[in-house]
Amino acid sequence: MSVLELARPELLVLKPYSSARMEAGKAAVMLNANESPYAPFAGDALALNRYPDPQPAALLDQLGRAYGVDAGQIFVGRGSDEAIDLLVRAFCRAGRDAVLICPPTFGMYAVAAGVQGAAVVAVPLQAERDFALDVDGVLNAARVNPVKLVFVCTPNNPTGGSVPIDQITGLATALAGRALVVVDEAYAEFADTPSVTSLLDQHPNLVVLRTLSKAYGLAGARLGVLIAAPEIIGLIRRIMAPYPLPTPCLAAALAAFSDAASAARVEHLATTRSERRRLATALRAHPAVRHVWPSDANFVAFRVDDAHATWRQLLDRGVIVRDVSHYLGLANCLRVSAAPGKGLGGVGGGGPGAAQGHSSARRRPRPPMRSLQP
Ligand SMILES: *Cc1c(COP(=O)(O)O)cnc(C)c1O
Repeated sequence: MSVLELARPELLVLKPYSSARMEAGKAAVMLNANESPYAPFAGDALALNRYPDPQPAALLDQLGRAYGVDAGQIFVGRGSDEAIDLLVRAFCRAGRDAVLICPPTFGMYAVAAGVQGAAVVAVPLQAERDFALDVDGVLNAARVNPVKLVFVCTPNNPTGGSVPIDQITGLATALAGRALVVVDEAYAEFADTPSVTSLLDQHPNLVVLRTLSKAYGLAGARLGVLIAAPEIIGLIRRIMAPYPLPTPCLAAALAAFSDAASAARVEHLATTRSERRRLATALRAHPAVRHVWPSDANFVAFRVDDAHATWRQLLDRGVIVRDVSHYLGLANCLRVSAAPGKGLGGVGGGGPGAAQGHSSARRRPRPPMRSLQP
């Protein structure tokens, strides 16, 4: 069967909007989109008076090389948030179908389901096993509920652990013809586990989400990538916004793949990973910290006695961390990004302002977060 049999049938016959830029690329005289022929200001090198290419080939090629897939397996949207939303819209009938999530996990899966009127089936990660995936629980729940999408976040936000690749293969195999397995690899660049994009050819019901928001440092440009079988990409393109990618964002994305930017990224990834290890070690040694979860991402989750009080103390010192206490199984937990030279490691003695991120703070041998009262 085609994986499209899982999609909302009405979308398969929907006549998609055909944008001017889709119907014809560029010509010497462009009179098909009611654009202004005038540049918005003198010296506009980006030609912002023109609508952008909906899915620019240069970017798709670049991303295809980066992720080891074909351009036809890629949709680029406004962050993976948009990709999540489009997947739910494409596969879940309101009031009938469901998505499956494994909390504690990224909040947008449930929000997108709620917006679409899809039910949310939750199969919690196993708290006693460092929040490992409950594979049997997921399979059972996906069989007895009308689940169309199974979201697996690896490394998981906010806990930081990775899902072994054989567990994902197992899910995709067992759910073939029933549901898509959507693997959110927003933090894959920081992890040692390989991407599951290599499994796409064997598993047409596998979908991978990547983003330029984290490792590529482009959160402000809103660029998220959906990688899947070409027929799924075709369906997503049918329902996408006419021009999802603003021209300045495309320029920023292409610049991020230059040789110089790529070399800098390799270095930043190594620095961030070592900062994550240092941060986890320092937190484990701290008397106020009750538990630190192993992380493959660019953040660390940890438990204290009173998360809100610690959060407040850090804020008073000019540092914002994320209070993740409201997530299932994460009472009194905080999540902190590993930011070399700018992070929690710099929060020692020295009164308010000491946490402002002097890179010299890293080199000073003093206990981290000494001022946090247990
Ligand atoms: C940050 C994050 C995203 C990224 O979202 P964008 O919309 O691409 O910025 C996706 N999934 C997870 C789990 C994240 O933590």
